[in-house]
Amino acid sequence: MIIEVYLSLGSNIGDKKAYLEEAIIEIGKIAKTELRAVSSFYITKPWGKLEQADFINMVIKIMTSLSAERLLENLQNIEMKMGRQDNGRWGPRIIDIDILLYGDKIIHTEELVVPHPHMKQRLFVLVPLMELNPDLVFPDDGAHIQEVLSKVLDREGEDNIIKRL
Ligand code: ADP
Ligand code: MG
Repeated sequence: MIIEVYLSLGSNIGDKKAYLEEAIIEIGKIAKTELRAVSSFYITKPWGKLEQADFINMVIKIMTSLSAERLLENLQNIEMKMGRQDNGRWGPRIIDIDILLYGDKIIHTEELVVPHPHMKQRLFVLVPLMELNPDLVFPDDGAHIQEVLSKVLDREGEDNIIKRL
């Protein structure tokens, strides 16, 4: 079966845009996987650990017939091949690739939680995701992306995300 998948990509060290572009090319080379859409690049303030450089974040859409677990393995291989070091959770990284949505599947294993647990609180995910699919409905609670996004915007304002490079 071919599944529509949304991935979140982020980088906050070195030539961030070049790392993101490299990651997109590598993702396009994954077996049984096809790149379908790429959001704008968004400059965003760090989340979690504040005393670090700004990020560039984006969302891409792929179609894949890999299982979610096999897809995650491939994405982690790309992170490693690109030289990502372990700087702790939410620490600086040259590339972070997360699975946001895997079709309408709900997954809760040791390695994988989908929909991504924090995605509904993060402007740097919601804004580019909405750019790719303004009609998106979350499979876990049936919420519409526009409602979710406007709630977060009401709470936080738009200051944490500087659109488009
Ligand atoms: P984070 O993305 O939270 O900053 P990491 O990229 O270091 O942290 O990932 C830590 C672990 O998160 C990975 O080893 C992976 O098994 C797990 N994980 C759980 N759910 C997901 C998901 N939806 N996408 C990517 N990784 C996930
Ligand atoms: Mg990650």
